Amino acid sequence: MRIYSDIVYAAHLLRQGEVVAFPTETVYGLGADALNPNAVLKIFELKQRPKFDPLIVHLQNVNQMSDYAEFQEELVNTLAKHFLPGPLSLVCKKKPIIPDLVTSGLDTVAIRIPANDIAQLLLQEFGGPVAAPSANLFGKLSPTHFEHVFKNFGDRVFILKGPSSSVGIESTILDITTEPPTILRRGGISTEAIEAVLGKVQEDIVASSNPKSPGQLKHHYSPNTPLMVIENLNDLKTLPLPKRFGLLLPSPMEFKFLDDHQMVTRILSSTNDLQEMAKQFFSILHELDTLELPLVVAIKVPNIGIGRAINDRLERASSH
Ligand code: AMP
Ligand code: MG
Repeated sequence: MRIYSDIVYAAHLLRQGEVVAFPTETVYGLGADALNPNAVLKIFELKQRPKFDPLIVHLQNVNQMSDYAEFQEELVNTLAKHFLPGPLSLVCKKKPIIPDLVTSGLDTVAIRIPANDIAQLLLQEFGGPVAAPSANLFGKLSPTHFEHVFKNFGDRVFILKGPSSSVGIESTILDITTEPPTILRRGGISTEAIEAVLGKVQEDIVASSNPKSPGQLKHHYSPNTPLMVIENLNDLKTLPLPKRFGLLLPSPMEFKFLDDHQMVTRILSSTNDLQEMAKQFFSILHELDTLELPLVVAIKVPNIGIGRAINDRLERASSH
């Protein structure tokens, strides 16, 4: 099958110190051999990513983690039992074998075990750790389909093509070097789900100028079209709106005003399902971004579970 020869080729490129894009269940990643600083540097250059923003190291399974990091085994086993492979990155104390460039000089490393089949096969074929952030230009919308990756990098990067990302938002980043552990970025695994397993955790997701986790940066995930985020439909009445604009709704909503406007409406989930909202989120923002609208107005999704991760992204994507 073609996909297998593509995977063999992608692993070959990784061994040569090249960068490849690959699908994961969260978003597409831009990967390089994590133990080769020259290869990792290419990721930063391609993405125009500042060096202070560390990458996530992708491994095939939990057994490999102790080669690259130090951690409390019992805690990791408990998390693994419930969530791995899957959209959860664990920040652990790093071992010296991980180059400083990967971790932006931090003494910690974020490790993730992706669930996506193609990502798994690539990691297996390559055999080593793959450093990978999302396969987009720094600060822009994350890619959940290979066409989004192509839009960013064209032919400059080999893209392993897979299905669109099933989770659709980035991994949750959990720092397990603190007691209790700290969520540094909300993502594909909800805080509630983690707390159901570990008990109360801390959250430290507030943007600062020197972020511990740059998913925390105040402006991120931005479309090119100006985006405005509001709490509910009634807030629309108070806005000065252009004649034509995009409207992003979490679920179907009825309203009887703004008849004189031309609205391009998109709905994240027709069944009010938070997982589906996450899966559609970046994909719909990418699509709206191609329509040359002067403005997109988005209504926040229900602020529970994975919905909080979506709302975090909406806030950071909005133009202030
Ligand atoms: P991306 O995959 O594009 O979301 O980028 C990876 C993200 O992982 C970074 O922006 C950070 O938020 C986070 N990250 C990676 N390594 C660390 C670390 N050692 N400590 C805290 N956050 C990290
Ligand atoms: Mg990213």
